[in-house]
Amino acid sequence: MFKLFNSFSLSKQDFVPFDKSLVKIFICGPTVYDYTHLGHARIFLTYDLLSRYLNDQSLQTDVLVNLTDINQNVFNKAKENSTTYKDIAKFYASAFVVDLQSLGIQSINRLVYVSDYVSSIETQVQELIQKKVAYTAHGNVYLDVSRVKNYGKISQQTRTELNLHRLDIGPGKKNQEDIMLWNCTDEFDFSWESQLGKGIPWWHMQDTAVAVENFGKNYDIHGGARELLYPHHEAHLAQYELLTDSEEPVRAWVHVGLVLSDGEKMSKSLGNVVWVKDLIKKYSSDLIRLYVFSKHYRDDMDFSEKDLERQKPLLDLIHLAKSRVSDTTHEDISNLVRSFMESLDDDLDSPTALANLEKICTEVKNGKGLSQIDYSRMCNILGLHI
Ligand SMILES: [Zn+2]
Repeated sequence: MFKLFNSFSLSKQDFVPFDKSLVKIFICGPTVYDYTHLGHARIFLTYDLLSRYLNDQSLQTDVLVNLTDINQNVFNKAKENSTTYKDIAKFYASAFVVDLQSLGIQSINRLVYVSDYVSSIETQVQELIQKKVAYTAHGNVYLDVSRVKNYGKISQQTRTELNLHRLDIGPGKKNQEDIMLWNCTDEFDFSWESQLGKGIPWWHMQDTAVAVENFGKNYDIHGGARELLYPHHEAHLAQYELLTDSEEPVRAWVHVGLVLSDGEKMSKSLGNVVWVKDLIKKYSSDLIRLYVFSKHYRDDMDFSEKDLERQKPLLDLIHLAKSRVSDTTHEDISNLVRSFMESLDDDLDSPTALANLEKICTEVKNGKGLSQIDYSRMCNILGLHI
């Protein structure tokens, strides 16, 4: 039975999708105003591994990623370049697709701009107001979290702890931790005319509209970087539950650790950002994948080119094994292939899977048989293009 760590329960749980044969996955996508760095890429590589593994287990996947184009950073970039937010979004969305393709990420089948959902957001915010869980204050619309059952449940915070965060600061808010849904008071270079007032739909609500419109009442996995847990995912879940009248509409909340650079978060101001477009010029996607999967997805990883290069002997062994594949798999190797699969079955434990793959390829080097079918199966799951 496939087990996944659920941030909601803080434990590994048997993964049972709502639909027996189809797994619906929503991954929080990028804000499209810059190129893709390794931290972003790790997220999509992780869900690509997950999708490939589920596909191997005869489960189809439906993977939705939203492109955030309603955002101040996008607007600023548009202004700098004397163009529209849409042009900036299109440019960086195309670059994102190229970067993902260069890493062999094929699992995403729905890639959508949040700006295409503004009328849905407007309708949904009005619905929340009618349900008396949202209110207007000085032109803005907020979600009244005191009306939400067990608010704080994903980020494991009590109301007192939540109250310590100074969020969405605005006049007339009922509770400090209330979540903005529609912003009419701040000045934006781009805004939308609406019955809620001229303004912009706020971040969390953008994702909720995309999820409701694409997946309806429920879906199986919500993913993204761990740093999105609060307030983003907490707010999204509250809104989603209220709009769909469902309890626990998402089976599992799966979060990926950060990629650090010299022990710090990647940022342009520190000059430590590792861009995918640069990395792929120097190293193959196979090597980058082995490197990213050499760490468990939930752990943070500190980028080091030396560590990346340390994967070269394993990649060479995998290449050598390819030239030695035979018709049948030796019993000893069959057991190792089983261990490879079992490690992925245990919350996608890719480091252990790679250790098993290394043993397999070493046995093949020493003369034991590995069938083409078993070899290709493992390479396909890892997304290696050998
Ligand atoms: Zn999101």
